[in-house]
Amino acid sequence: MKILEERIREEGLILSDTVLKVDSFLNHQVDTELALQIGQEFKMIFGHLPVTKVLTVEASGIQFAMAAGIALKVPFIYAKKKKAITQSEDVYSAPVHSFTRQEHYRISISQKYLGPGDKVLIVDDFLATGAALVGLADIVEESGAELLGVGCVIEKSFQEGRSLLEKRGIPVHALARIASMAPGEIHFIDNTAD
Ligand code: 5GP
Repeated sequence: MKILEERIREEGLILSDTVLKVDSFLNHQVDTELALQIGQEFKMIFGHLPVTKVLTVEASGIQFAMAAGIALKVPFIYAKKKKAITQSEDVYSAPVHSFTRQEHYRISISQKYLGPGDKVLIVDDFLATGAALVGLADIVEESGAELLGVGCVIEKSFQEGRSLLEKRGIPVHALARIASMAPGEIHFIDNTAD
């Protein structure tokens, strides 16, 4: 998605060879117009599939899962990272190790909202080590739902996330694929063949 690559070039802060900060338009302040365009892009990629639910993890995937849900006209669910006092019902849960925060946590989804018969599209902001999305894929499997694919806004292709998911037979599409980066420079993989 050219417009996304341009914004990353213009506004992205490359903090190191592995960490990109995009707080001005994706991760903290959100460009709502761009978020909706991202939802439409996911519809172009996955719209031919019979998706019944979009799934993400709180918090940074929510706006893109919502945009995809709006475009595909289906609900989205975000996995919670902490058990809320209102969450008394049975949950599916999986452990995750956070790349950016360097900590372990559990994600969970109420069993009420996901089950056999659901066809799921997972959406997230970044695909890095894949830990968060592997956790979500485990939850989908546990629920008996079918996972149709994973859509990410930004993929750091030099990290192992994509290969972990593809090894499980999960189709992965990313709107901007970073081949490599270092402070002051960034290289994208040409996505036009996808
Ligand atoms: P994972 O390593 O599980 O693929 O990434 C988990 C989450 O960490 C992503 O959904 C994203 O929120 C965050 N993350 C990973 N790498 C980066 C990065 O380079 N920049 C930012 N802003 N977030 C990242």
